[in-house]
Amino acid sequence: MTKYVFVTGGVVSGLGKGITASSIALLLKSRGYKVFMQKFDPYMNVDPGTMSPFQHGEVFVTADGCETDLDLGHYERFIDEELNYTSNITNGKIYSSVIEKERRGDYLGATVQMVPHITNEIKNKVYEAGVTSKADIVITEIGGTIGDIESQTFLEALRQIAYEQGSKNTFFVHTTLIPWIYGSGELKTKPTQKSVIEMRSVGLHPHALVCRTPLSLDDSIKNKLSMFCNVPKENIIEAIDVKNIYQIPLNYAEQKIDEIILKQFELDLRKIDLKEWQQLVDTVDHLEREVEVALVGKYTELHDAYLSVTESLKHAGFKYKAKVNIRWVDAENLETGDVNNILKGVKGIVVPGGFGTRGIEGKIKACEYARTNKIPYLGLCLGMQIAVIEFARHVCGLENATSTEFDEVAKTPIIDLMAEQKQINHMGGTLRLGNYACTLKKKSLAHNLYKQDSILERHRHRYEFNNAYKEILEEKGLVFSGINGESNLVEIIEYPDHPFFIASQFHPEFKSRPTRPHPLFDGFIEATLKRS
Ligand code: GLN
Repeated sequence: MTKYVFVTGGVVSGLGKGITASSIALLLKSRGYKVFMQKFDPYMNVDPGTMSPFQHGEVFVTADGCETDLDLGHYERFIDEELNYTSNITNGKIYSSVIEKERRGDYLGATVQMVPHITNEIKNKVYEAGVTSKADIVITEIGGTIGDIESQTFLEALRQIAYEQGSKNTFFVHTTLIPWIYGSGELKTKPTQKSVIEMRSVGLHPHALVCRTPLSLDDSIKNKLSMFCNVPKENIIEAIDVKNIYQIPLNYAEQKIDEIILKQFELDLRKIDLKEWQQLVDTVDHLEREVEVALVGKYTELHDAYLSVTESLKHAGFKYKAKVNIRWVDAENLETGDVNNILKGVKGIVVPGGFGTRGIEGKIKACEYARTNKIPYLGLCLGMQIAVIEFARHVCGLENATSTEFDEVAKTPIIDLMAEQKQINHMGGTLRLGNYACTLKKKSLAHNLYKQDSILERHRHRYEFNNAYKEILEEKGLVFSGINGESNLVEIIEYPDHPFFIASQFHPEFKSRPTRPHPLFDGFIEATLKRS
């Protein structure tokens, strides 16, 4: 039978609840248990797909094609398990499903209400994750903080699950903040006490507290927290600020959070194997060299908008014991500024995904700079479309080459809508999403990097390379090294007359892991290091 760990947050948001949930899952997995993860987001959007990255950061895409919260990226990177449609539940999803059922007549005769209809729908989503994943333990993070109006129904659903399943099958971890007061020089427990009181007022009781703190918690603080929050002293886990996030699971393991949970679940402790993770932490703590790469985007003020990309660059760096420093380049600045100066000295250039017209010409300039100065280039999704447009304009003489995303009546629509996309009116959930297969051309750079004939990668785009222009580009030396066999769509392009120039229509960044960098990022970082 599946057991459930719920991770809630109190006092303030941004305490690293997602990392806490991932760390707990990693520890339980390292003891041989099958784990699965889930996140509840209390907003009314069905998914974050149509939200601006400025609002929400990156949209993480699962293998089965769901657009999800960026925390799912942390989960996948920590536990190295593929998540799916049961992993990100929003209020929008819950409400639309209840309303659809109401219209269909599923509740004939009943008045449809928050309790029990919305709460039952939420409970079903928790249980569904357990059933479909066949996990021993499902770890569910509740977005937002205790007391938010939006999350009330989620908390009521959890209360009912706790009642139905009992404490041998449910475990509540509450993450809070212990602030340090400048002047009096003290750590303060009151906000945590208040947050636990608020939790109790909705019928929930934390079994463990994870306390984010700048300083170590001494005995007197733990005693106080224990007494006032009804939590055994050993179950008060200190989450001290760290430089290296991979250290966090090890810090929790030392404080035995996994053992505490397993004991309550009456499950065997089993032997823990954290060797690989320990090695990762050592590597990250002892990087020997540095390399700077430019990331050219339009949401560069909010680094979370490119979270998986920057993580993937770091992972590849770990393999070469190198710290990858990012030069954040706002694409619009390249349109008016001096490109040579802005990009001077970088050892590689990444153009990541993006939507809309703003900054496009700047990205094309960055790509041209990389191609002509023989600087390693990695294009991701929009970054591939940019590379193709740049090549068509400046090498093939197709000076009007563009995408119909930027110019609906383009004369040279080298990037265009797929036939199926032309009929679509709704913006939400209608992109080409999730896993699609790609066959790699023998002897190409792509084949050389992947060392496989065919691959599966995750997508999130609406526009495609227009095959009508393939021959002209091929003649001038562009290589189409990855093709989706079923649709004949271009998935990877590369330019062999260059130290490293490759771009993909898919998003490789979703599949990179800290201990297993993605082949495209691996090759890219290796190439940048050769220039250092
Ligand atoms: N805007 C482009 C498209 O829709 C690229 C999308 C992306 O980079 N994720 O095809």
